Parts: sequence; structure tokens; C-alpha cells
Amino acid sequence: MVRSVSAVPAAYPRRLRPIRKWIVHASLVGVALGLAAGWGRAESGSNFDVKNYTIDAQLLTSQHLITATARIDLIPRIDLTALNFELHSNLRVEKVTDPSGQDVTFKRDGLNLSIALLNPLSAGKLSSITVKYGGLLNSADGSPVEGIKVAYIGADGTYLLYPGRWFPVNGYGVNRFAATMNITVPSDEVVIASGKAAVPEREPGQVTYSYVFDKESFPGTVIAGHYAAQPATAIGADIALYLKPDHESLAPSYGDTAAKILGFYSDIFGPLPNSHLAIVEIADDTVGGYTAPGLVALAPRAITNPVNYKLLAHEISHLWWRCLVSPATPNDAFLDEGLAEYSKALYVQQAAGDAAFEDLMRATAVGALTHEEVAPIAQAGQLHEFTPEYESIVFDKGAMVFHMLRWVIGDDAFHQTLKLLAEQYAWKSVSTDQFQRLAEKASKQELTFFFAQWVNSTGVPQFKRTWAVYRLQKGYQVVGKMQQDLDIFRMPVEVRVVCQGSRPVTERIDMVGTTSDFTIDTRTKPLRVLVDPASQILKFDDQTKYQVEMARADQLREQQAYLDAIKQYQDVLQINSNSSLAHYRLGDIHFMLRNYNAAMEEFRRGLDGDLNPKWIEVWSHLKLGEIFDVTGQRDRALNEYQRALQTNDNTQGALDEANRYIQKPYKPGSQ
Ligand SMILES: [Zn+2]
Repeated sequence: MVRSVSAVPAAYPRRLRPIRKWIVHASLVGVALGLAAGWGRAESGSNFDVKNYTIDAQLLTSQHLITATARIDLIPRIDLTALNFELHSNLRVEKVTDPSGQDVTFKRDGLNLSIALLNPLSAGKLSSITVKYGGLLNSADGSPVEGIKVAYIGADGTYLLYPGRWFPVNGYGVNRFAATMNITVPSDEVVIASGKAAVPEREPGQVTYSYVFDKESFPGTVIAGHYAAQPATAIGADIALYLKPDHESLAPSYGDTAAKILGFYSDIFGPLPNSHLAIVEIADDTVGGYTAPGLVALAPRAITNPVNYKLLAHEISHLWWRCLVSPATPNDAFLDEGLAEYSKALYVQQAAGDAAFEDLMRATAVGALTHEEVAPIAQAGQLHEFTPEYESIVFDKGAMVFHMLRWVIGDDAFHQTLKLLAEQYAWKSVSTDQFQRLAEKASKQELTFFFAQWVNSTGVPQFKRTWAVYRLQKGYQVVGKMQQDLDIFRMPVEVRVVCQGSRPVTERIDMVGTTSDFTIDTRTKPLRVLVDPASQILKFDDQTKYQVEMARADQLREQQAYLDAIKQYQDVLQINSNSSLAHYRLGDIHFMLRNYNAAMEEFRRGLDGDLNPKWIEVWSHLKLGEIFDVTGQRDRALNEYQRALQTNDNTQGALDEANRYIQKPYKPGSQ
């Protein structure tokens, strides 16, 4: 799943944020921990496993209404007299019947549905209960994912994503299940879901689509709307695209790219048991992307020309990492989202080369460091699934764990580990311990040290080094010492000596504990010594520190926590007072808060700074012009707009805007 997209003129966002802004203060992180619905609850331990759902649902899309009956086949782990599910709080339960068809009592409390049984269900024995329910799904109100619509019914397009709990869900993200979905919609609509499709049954005014997914996975997503399928042309791939009219022309390029990504992953992870893939465009008011078995749903803002292949690669990898193999508990979630992020990076390395891969991993490291200290990866179950903290720890640090594992055990053993994972755990869940054993088997190395420091605890090294050079008979010798503060640290660390007039000499030094000595011989005169130059290890250094503080400030700004954001940008300026970006952001916030003098001062300082990125110049002049217009100084405003035009930089339409305000003064809210 991917979330985000941010506004102009932002540094390019890596993921798609939901349109609605986060209204969560960083200072409230402690409150968010463990309280929110999401992974946290699932872990509280269910006493039963759902094996199969048979859902008959009628969608009255023009009225945003669902009426449904779900037969739930389950196996209790102990004798049970009560069952607890999660169900979208807008859905009303009408009736629940036990295996003998008798009505039983139930209680709703927000997201929870508790069912009390008169006759106990026996441990180990397959039983079925039936839940009849229905209701209105027309807004984000009552959403199981706070502030994000993940279940919506409408004539403009229906999306019922599994996170929307639009049917009674047990062990969210953990309990794998099979499903038969019989979905009835108005006769001009099409339904797309996971599994084998039957021929639609037509009746006057309506049509019923049936999908059977008979393996245990997460086939809980249904999409409906006015679609015409566009088969992809790529040879050998079974891909159908369901794009909306505005994007129909992009179907061939999306089909081709998806086929390439599927081919690449099939080579390195092993082929999927069923290669059919539907790529379906949903709406902009939800997550950027979501993947169910055989089905990738994308928001319109995620469908771009040229193809946003990174996002597509992340989503398609979920066909392996979630649909085929999934985390055993919420605490193992990095095996899903973290591995999806790293799979994306592997595809980027193959499709765009090493430099693009290294850029991506640097950005991933910054993302990981932004909230690294909040919780170890192994306690992801304590975090709310859709928060910046979750993204930092599970997605980004998770991806870094796979990156570092590859560095520690080598490319061959790493790829072997992923192959074994897809092969031995197909249609099953896997725990972090089981994954560790696969990596140990593939690499023939004991890896407790690795998982202990990177998965089970927090903490990131910051390396210092000292060195001296000695003349040898032939050439030179560098004798040095590396230091960092983490006591339990143990990793191979690359040390590179840059030499005069010849290629650098690189050695892999096994570092255990806080200090390690190294001796490296060179032919020509050593100039510099670099520790971990290729960023194999998640670490803090001056550059990442600046980027991390900046990323934290940007998050606060996106959450509209402006006073906290101002403080945080000032912290960024403590590290780098020359940062035009921090000044620009401060100017922008002050402008929004109508502190025009403060805003003007920041925009001016930004123009005197490092002008990185370049668009700051044009946008600062534009903003200064706007301030002059707002404060009734038209001549000075025109002067700034002219200076904006002189930059000749039309990033995010800056020049168009300058021309517009030259014609007609800027007024607040006139954009
Ligand atoms: Zn994902």
C-alpha cells in the first residue's frame, strides 16, 4: 500500500499521501501508540481462524448503500462461546445465526462486533456463522483508518478495500482466508475482485459478478464502476487495465511496465501461481495504491505520464509479499511493506541503474531515521498503520533492513533467501524468526546479531574515524580506528581510502562493538578515508542529520502543526543556516499565517542562501510579489514578478503565475 502526495512546490514526494492532511501532532505520538484501531487490535489474539467467506452483497451505488450476507467458515483454536470481529462502524448488523441456523445475540461497539454463542463451537472443528448486515458507505466518517476513506460506494465508482472492514474481519492482515464474492450492481456497472470470475448473471436492472479465490490470502477487496477493460498488449502477460476515460491512453504504457515488473520479480522471487493481473483506477480521495491478489488499485493521482514505475513496482511486489506470503503477526509487518519497498528498489536498480538505486536508498535511509527512535521494527504492532511513524519504521527502516542483510550475506545468498521465502511459505504466513532461519540457511551464517540490532532494537550508529599514514618501501600504509557509540553493534563496514592519482582502495572491516582498527596498504599517497561510502548501513552523518530534521519539519507542516513546524525549521537552520529551503518553508508558513513582515524576511534570506533546490529563486520572488500585492504596494509587487520571470524557471507553473499577477494583482485565495 502507498499513501501520499504533497503540494507545490514541494521536494518530490516519494509516496502518495491521501488528499486529506494528517492532523496528528508529533507530540501526540505517544497517544497514538497502541490506541488506534488497526494492527494493534489484531494482535490482541483471536481464538479462531477464518478459513473462508461467502459474501452475497448488493450495492445500490446511487444510494451509497450495501446490503450483504456473509457466511463465515472458521476453526476455533479453543472451545468458544464468543467471537469478535471488526466491521466498519457505519454498517449495521441485522442478524447473526449460528451453525444450526439459530439466531444469536451480538453487540456493536464502534468497529467491534462481538457475537455471543449459546452452543459453544468446538476447538479444531470447522463451523459456520452467518452475518446479515448493511449500511451507508459514503464518506470517511467512521472509517476504520482514521481520516482516510478506504470503503466507499457510489455511482461515481465503488471501492471496498480490505482495510475498510466492509465485511466482518478477524485478525486484520494476519488471518489468511479464501473467499467467494457474489456482488450485485446496477446493470451498467462492472465488478472487479480477486480470483476466478464466472460469467456475470444479468437480470432486469442489475447484474451479479462472482469471483472465487480458493487459496488462503487476502481476497477482501471489491471495486465496481463504469469500466471498459483494456487488455494490455505486452506479450506473454495476462494483464487487464480498467482505467477511467482521462487515462485510457496510458493503458499501453501501464500494461507494458507492469509486464516488465512482473517478469523481473518472477525471475528473482519465482513465478506467481496465477499470473493474471487487473490494474484498476479508483478515486483520488483514498490511498494512492492498494494491492489484493491479482488486483492493483491505483488512485488517479498515481497514474502518470511517464509511468510512475516506482509506485507500480511497490504495489506489484505485494502480489508476492502479502498475497502469497504474509507476516505472521503485526510485529512482523516489515516482511510485507518493508520488503515491498526494497523490492521496488531492486526493480529501480535493474531498470534505472545503480545511481538511481543509490539515490532511492539514501532517501529511504532519511525516511527511516525520521522516526527511528520511536519503536523497534519488531514492535510495529504498537503503531497505527497509516502514520508517519509507521511509514518510517515499517516501510523505510524495513527496506533498510533488507538492504543491510544483502550487504551482510551477499547478493547470491540474499536472492536465495527471497526465493526460499516465496517457495517455502507460499500461501502461508511467516514470522521474523522463520525468515531469519531462511537467511541463515541461504548464507550458512548465524544472524542473531543482525536481527537483534536492526529488528529487535532501535539505535543507529554514527561513525568517527582517525587515521595516520606511514611510508612503506613500496607505497603507503593507512592505520586507523573507527568508532561509534552502540555497544551491541556488529557489522561488516566498508572503509575506502581515496588516493592521489590512482583508484581508491576499499576494504571490508568486521566491526564488533564500539571501536575497530584497520590497516590498509595503498600504492599512491592516501588523501581521505571514508567509512561506509556506499551507504550500506543505516547511519547518521552530517548530511543525513540535516535531511532528517528537514523531513521532520516537512511532516509537521503537512500535518498543519504550524507552530511546531516553525520551531523545527529553525532547528534545521541551526544545522545549516544557509538552507534556502528551510527559509522558504518558514516564509511560506508565515505568509499563510499572515505574518507578512516575518514572511518577507524569510523569503529574502532564502534568496541569499544556497538556492538548493533551484526553484526556490523563482518561487521566492513570486511570494514576495504576492506579499507586496496583499499589502497594497503594486509597484514593488510588479518588480518581484519581473524578477521571477527573469529566472526562466517554470517549475510548478511559476512563470504562468507571475504572468497572471502582472495582469491582475494577487489576492489571498485567488490561486
Ligand atoms: Zn505497500
